[in-house]
Amino acid sequence: MTFPRINLHIHSSFSDGKNSIEQIIKKSLKLKLDYIAITDHFTDSWKSWVSKLKDNIKIEEYLNTISNCQNYLNKNDKELTLFKGIEIDLSSSEGFIKKYIEPEKFNLMLFEYLDTFEAIGFLRDIIQFWKRCFKPLNEFPILGLAHFDPSYFIHGNLDILINFLKENNIYFEFNSSYSTYYSLQNKLFFEKLKENNIPVAIGCDTHNIKNLDNIDEPLDMIKYYNLENNFQILINKLKL
Ligand SMILES: [Zn+2]
Repeated sequence: MTFPRINLHIHSSFSDGKNSIEQIIKKSLKLKLDYIAITDHFTDSWKSWVSKLKDNIKIEEYLNTISNCQNYLNKNDKELTLFKGIEIDLSSSEGFIKKYIEPEKFNLMLFEYLDTFEAIGFLRDIIQFWKRCFKPLNEFPILGLAHFDPSYFIHGNLDILINFLKENNIYFEFNSSYSTYYSLQNKLFFEKLKENNIPVAIGCDTHNIKNLDNIDEPLDMIKYYNLENNFQILINKLKL
């Protein structure tokens, strides 16, 4: 099975990445990537210094910059598909997320720090709020977990987690920067992903264009855990 080359976790200078969005696009074209997502940080937690996306003006500027790049790629018949993403820190305040994030403006939303049972409840409430407020639902963005560590749930609440991912159509990311998360100690988690057809993706947590195509190791891990079908489910969603 050959798969498209994807990296759905990239930071630009709108947060703590080194490069502009334009530089990222240029390099992605050179590397012949097929699908990428710009996913800058959104946070008002202790690490709020990492992001510039703190008010509507800056968020609009970010979205417009990506839109312009999407238009450029379309007009010039480039093979690369670019997604408008964001990485939401779940240790942010609920009010901050609800005030500034309008899901229909994004193609993809990543969540970082889903590491407790309580965090599942927090995220569930926010997704329900969005789904009540924003229509049409068929334009709801793709949702994924950024660098999620399964070991937090492997000894308890694993089924609650899996059901939550399934009900909300949230994918799991294989991230080249966190290879210890994919150790055999978490085998049961990967078996449950397979059993439940939970989509899996590849994201590199790229902060520098030098690491834009670190996608081989995550793909090997997907194959090792026999999750090719789960990866294909995700790819089919990207094609829509
Ligand atoms: Zn990240």
